[in-house]
Amino acid sequence: MSHKDRVTYPDRLTGETDFDLTLRPQQLRDFIGQDKVRKNLDIFIQATLERNEPLDHVLFHGPPGLGKTTLAHIIAQELGSQIRVTSGPALERPGDLAGLLTNLHERDVLFIDEIHRLNRVVEEYLYPAMEDFKLDIIIDKGANARTIQLQIPPFTLVGATTRAGLLTSPLRARFGVSLRMDYYPVQQLAMVVKRSALILNVQVEENAAMEIAKRSRGTPRVANRLLRRIRDFAQIEGESVISHDQACRALEQLDVDEKGLDDMDKRILLSVIDKFSGGPVGLNTLAVAIGEEPDTIEEVYEPYLIQNGLLNRTPRGRVATELAFNHFNRHPRSPQQGLLFE
Ligand code: ADP
Repeated sequence: MSHKDRVTYPDRLTGETDFDLTLRPQQLRDFIGQDKVRKNLDIFIQATLERNEPLDHVLFHGPPGLGKTTLAHIIAQELGSQIRVTSGPALERPGDLAGLLTNLHERDVLFIDEIHRLNRVVEEYLYPAMEDFKLDIIIDKGANARTIQLQIPPFTLVGATTRAGLLTSPLRARFGVSLRMDYYPVQQLAMVVKRSALILNVQVEENAAMEIAKRSRGTPRVANRLLRRIRDFAQIEGESVISHDQACRALEQLDVDEKGLDDMDKRILLSVIDKFSGGPVGLNTLAVAIGEEPDTIEEVYEPYLIQNGLLNRTPRGRVATELAFNHFNRHPRSPQQGLLFE
């Protein structure tokens, strides 16, 4: 069986799977940025290979689209192992986990995306598996119920989460390696754009790559998506090279502004500014106002807005900053407080 035959992908990857797979760096040396994460992984993998042992369990945490899944695949590749992919919500019953674990080969990688969404019962089955490579299975029911213990092959669990804070401490403690992923600086994202352009066989001028990078919310997945859309515009307009002008026109058409804010970012900020006079507004109220799940706002959108100084999280709720008011040409005045910023 080939490596790929044993890979299963969670639903959220379907649709863009082929695209994602072709653009996904296969080896650590092709992975752009996240220097600390990359260097650490390199050392741990080398040391493990020298000792001929399975790699310690690895947890990646950080916002979506920064390369956690990609790194899980790279780890398997560098170890010369196979990878099994699943996600927290997909493992509904202990049996689902048992099925995966008992089919692993020695030193395989089991990747669990959104591991903070693992149900508690399944999670408890995972503890002995991670610690001692053992699985307790209950057979029979009622008075005849017995527990038998299965030995499973030594494996490496790679977990990914957008919310490290939601992981229970017993689970977190069982990861020997915990690595934080951060938004990418523009220069590195421009490298991602150029690399993807090469693979997609389109030419991108240097300043066009920079422009796309600037507007990608620090996220390679967004950079790749924008590049693909801009390529569509260029193709229809009969341009063989993506120029700065071309990129800017397409980005405008796509409603991506100079700060890289997308439609939902703008709705969040404008809602806080216009409907709640700049805040503070509670997360749930904000979620209802814009018709989005509170979790999605908190995990996907807010981190970037907060890091870029557009939104503040306060004990009383979310508050739009002066920068956000200025960005949308709004005057920071509220009925209760008068002028918010001088
Ligand atoms: P996550 O699991 O953190 O949500 P993924 O690993 O699925 O993110 O990455 C999203 C996309 O971005 C993939 O198509 C991948 O090719 C690309 N990507 C992520 N990180 C990098 C990187 N450092 N260099 C090049 N491409 C990257």
